[in-house]
Amino acid sequence: MIIKKTLNKKFDLVVIGAGSGGLAAAKRAARHGAKVCIVEGDKIGGTCVIRGCVPKKLMVYAANSRKNILNSKGYGLSSEKLSFDSKVLLKSIKNEVNRLSELHLNALEKLKITTIRGWGRFKNKDHLDIIDIDKKSVLDTVNAEKFLISVGGKPIKLNIPGSEFSWSSNEIFELEELPKSILIIGGGYIACEFACIFNNLGINVTQLLRSNNLLNGFDLDLSSSLRETMISSGITLIFNDELLKIEKKEKKIFDFILKSGQKCDAESFLYAIGREPNLDLINIQELDLKMNGKFIEVNEINQTNKSNIFAIGDVIDKPNLTPVAIEQGRVFADNFYGNLNRSINYEYIPKAVFSNPEIATVGLTEKEANNMFGEKNIEIFKCKFKPMSNTFKNINSKCLLKLVVNKSNDKVIGCHMFGESSAEIIQMASISLSMGVTKEQFNSTMALHPTISEEYVTMY
Ligand SMILES: Cc1cc2nc3c(=O)[nH]c(=O)nc-3n(C[C@H](O)[C@H](O)[C@H](O)COP(=O)(O)OP(=O)(O)OC[C@H]3O[C@@H](n4cnc5c(N)ncnc54)[C@H](O)[C@@H]3O)c2cc1C
Repeated sequence: MIIKKTLNKKFDLVVIGAGSGGLAAAKRAARHGAKVCIVEGDKIGGTCVIRGCVPKKLMVYAANSRKNILNSKGYGLSSEKLSFDSKVLLKSIKNEVNRLSELHLNALEKLKITTIRGWGRFKNKDHLDIIDIDKKSVLDTVNAEKFLISVGGKPIKLNIPGSEFSWSSNEIFELEELPKSILIIGGGYIACEFACIFNNLGINVTQLLRSNNLLNGFDLDLSSSLRETMISSGITLIFNDELLKIEKKEKKIFDFILKSGQKCDAESFLYAIGREPNLDLINIQELDLKMNGKFIEVNEINQTNKSNIFAIGDVIDKPNLTPVAIEQGRVFADNFYGNLNRSINYEYIPKAVFSNPEIATVGLTEKEANNMFGEKNIEIFKCKFKPMSNTFKNINSKCLLKLVVNKSNDKVIGCHMFGESSAEIIQMASISLSMGVTKEQFNSTMALHPTISEEYVTMY
C-alpha cells in the first residue's frame, strides 16, 4: 500500500477505515469530485473482504461441496477416495482475499484517493494523527473539512483464564490448517455458520449456547428447523449453559468446564459471542463524542454531535451488515458531495445465515408481527417439505417457507425461508416486500416449476 507524506495537506474528506462502508463512501465522494484521503491500518477491504462475508462464503462452498459428494451415492457418485486438505482451502482463500484487496487498492488509485497505511487517531476534531501499523509512532497528521469514522467492529471474547488460547472469526482465516475438533461458543449467525462449515468439512463440532435457542431475533420456525438439522447432521448442541473454565491438556486438547458442571473437550475453541465497535485506537474520548451505549450516536445524516465528524457501518446502532454499511457510505457521499438529498430505508433489509441449509429472511417475524398488529390481525402461511434435491440423498432435512401477512390490507410483511438457495430467493422477495406486495399478488403470480420457491405462490 502507498504511504504518501500528506503533512499540511487539507482534504475535503478523510475516511478512517477502508472496509465496506469507508471504501464505498470514499469512492463515491471522489467520483463527485471531492479530494479524499482514506486511512487503513490493515489490509484494504475490511471485515467483509478480509475476515468476514467473503472468506466465510468460500468456506461454505467448500463445506457444502464435501457434504453433497458424501451424500450422493443415490445419484451414482462415489465418495470412496474423497479427501479434504484444509491447507489448500485456507491458502486458496488467502489468495482470493489478497486479490480482492488489491482490486480495491487499484480502484482507490484510479480515483486519485490518497491512501495511507496506518491507524487513525484523532488529535482534535480537525486533525487526525496517523499512527504506524505497529502502533508506536505518529507518521503523519491529516486535516480535513469532514471526517468519516468507518472503523467497523471487533469480536468480543470472554474474560476468563484460558481465553488467550481461543480464536475469534478473525483468527480462523489466518490459520494454516483447520483443527480436528472445535468448541464454538455462541448462538448467533456467525456461530451457526461456522458450526455447519466445520461439521461439513469433517471436523467434530460442539456448540455451546447461553440461551435455549439458536439465532435470537430470527423467526422461531426457522431457528428450530436449523436446530433439528444441525443435531441430525452430527453437531453437538449444548443449550442453557456457559463456559466457566478452560484447562489446557497435553496433546493439544482443551478441557472445558461449564457452569452446569458438564465437561467437554476439543482441540480448539472459537468465540462467536458478538461484536462491538472497534473504537480502541481512534481516541473518541478526545472528541467527547456522544455515544449510544457502545455505539457512536448519529442523526439521520450520520452526523455525530461534532458537526464535521460522521460515522457509518458497524460503529453505529443499525443492522451490522455489509450492504447497510455500503449504502450508508454512498448516501453520505451523495448528499455532501453530489448535492443529492438521499436517505436510507431500513425497513426491509434481507438477512441470511449461511448455515446448511441456509436461512434467509426479510420483514417481520411472526412474533414481531403479532406484537405490532395483534395476533388476530396476522395470518401465517407456511409449508415444510423434503426438497427434491434430497430425494436420492441420505439427508432428511426439510425446507420451510413462511409468509407473514397483515390481514387488514393483505400486505406480505414477512417472508422467511429455511432451505437450499434461500438467500438467493429472499433477495428477490425483498424487492416485492419493499414495494408493498399483497398476498393476492403472490397468489396470482405464475409458479416456476419444479422449484422450491414456487411454493410461495401456491400457499393458499
Ligand atoms: C465472520 C463474519 C461474517 C460476516 N458475514 C456477513 C455476511 O454474510 N453478510 C453481511 O452483510 N455481513 C456480514 N458480516 C458483517 C460485515 O462484515 C460488516 O457489517 C461490515 O464489514 C461492516 O463494514 P464497516 O465498513 O462498518 O467496517 P469494516 O468492514 O469492519 O471495516 C473497518 C476497517 O477499519 C479499519 N480500522 C479500524 N480502526 C482503524 C483506525 N483507527 N484507523 C484506520 N483504520 C482502522 C479496520 O482495519 C477495517 O479494515 C460478517 C462479519 C463477520 C465477522
